[in-house]
Amino acid sequence: MTKGDSVTLKHPKASREPTDDLAVAPLFGLESRTIPRHELPRGELSPDVAYQIIHDELMLDGNARLNVATFVTTWMEPQAEKLMAECVDKNMIDKDEYPQTAELESRCVAMLSHLWHAPDAEAATGCSTTGSSEAAMLGGLALKRRWQRRRAAAGEPAGRPNLVMGINVQVCWEKFANYWDVEMRLVPMEGNRFHLSAEEAVARCDENTIGVVAVLGSTFDGSYEPVKEICEALDAYQAETGIDVPVHVDGASGAFVAPFVDPDLAWDFRLPRVASINASGHKYGLVYPGVGWVVWRDPEALPEDLIFWVNYLGDNMPTFALNFSRPGAQVVAQYYNFLRLGFDGYRSVQGYARDVATRLSGQIAELGPFELLTKGDELAVFAFKVRDEVDNFTVFDVSNAMRERGWQVPAYSFPKNREDLAALRVVVRRGFTHDLADLLVGDLKRQLPRLQRQPAPVHDGANASGFHH
Ligand SMILES: *Cc1c(COP(=O)(O)O)cnc(C)c1O
Repeated sequence: MTKGDSVTLKHPKASREPTDDLAVAPLFGLESRTIPRHELPRGELSPDVAYQIIHDELMLDGNARLNVATFVTTWMEPQAEKLMAECVDKNMIDKDEYPQTAELESRCVAMLSHLWHAPDAEAATGCSTTGSSEAAMLGGLALKRRWQRRRAAAGEPAGRPNLVMGINVQVCWEKFANYWDVEMRLVPMEGNRFHLSAEEAVARCDENTIGVVAVLGSTFDGSYEPVKEICEALDAYQAETGIDVPVHVDGASGAFVAPFVDPDLAWDFRLPRVASINASGHKYGLVYPGVGWVVWRDPEALPEDLIFWVNYLGDNMPTFALNFSRPGAQVVAQYYNFLRLGFDGYRSVQGYARDVATRLSGQIAELGPFELLTKGDELAVFAFKVRDEVDNFTVFDVSNAMRERGWQVPAYSFPKNREDLAALRVVVRRGFTHDLADLLVGDLKRQLPRLQRQPAPVHDGANASGFHH
């Protein structure tokens, strides 16, 4: 994370914008004029003019469908879009006013609880959130509160909580640790191990460990962390030390993938040590941003004093959230997908994405100069690097070359202890077809001769386009 002097939260690209006024072209019979760009304009504009100005400016945004950097849904069925448009005015928190939206949220929680093998799906405990980040905060808070309670009951101090995870975790866990004063115990990468291992996780646990976060799967390379092995190692640790460390699974992507295409993989509540799971409805849950989910294995895993009660049709309805008002449309769209696709539909969507990813990674491997770090056979996500013997172009050059045709293929450096490694990553999502994959490979092939002729690397990590995990 970079730390600047500035305390404003302005995007660096935005700060390069001209500071002069916005020139409004003669549109819809209006005379040309200027209006302030950074101050609230004094007068009104007609809705047509305001729409056109903003519409035109937004053309400079990338094409979401050519963005293989993001995990977030960029295509939904028109019927889902219609439902979302019908629900834009619904506030999720007004459970009294929109009881049916609240009901659909409960059904989604029950379905996920069931899908993730909670011991009693009838006692499903969970909620929707704005995304996995908020869901992770809630999961982490529950772990912290449970640990504090255990410590208090044992008459032990509860001032120095820690959370164990791999260095590959998404930034939301750094936020959690920072905002809620929990020490992060990060396991660095080593050699070809790009995520957490059971052995390394246990080695960092002690009586102050509120939990271990296992990621399904890693944003760096799409690989699943060995949740089962981590749980088993913690079982052995408990047998030896008496310290019971729960596991939270960050299934931002994988919790919507593994149940459908890896049904035999035990990563969820089938493992008794898994206390809670988060997932992003807006990633492989196949909904536009922003919706996420967090589910606890049973009501006991969520301390009651974290729950607030809001009025619901004269009854009281429990809520656990960081924010208050929030759109209902995404939750409705999630329910639409569940109803529309069902288990088989999700299996076919995720299976297709994995086919596209593995075929595409295979084609890229055959080009010669690239070496795969992963194949896309866990998440439909793979990372690849430029072979060590290639010294005249970098992954950052490849990323820039692909940008010429509009493809956004991120290049990024790995963290400790693999800072020497830089890779490109492709995320295959619903809407990214074999045909688009062929077009991507075609463009990569076309760019290669030029890259191979260039005398020395042009782009390095310092001038790479932004990449956020
Ligand atoms: C995307 C992601 C997050 C953050 O999720 P949002 O839904 O974007 O808030 C957290 N963890 C992992 C593993 C992710 O892939």
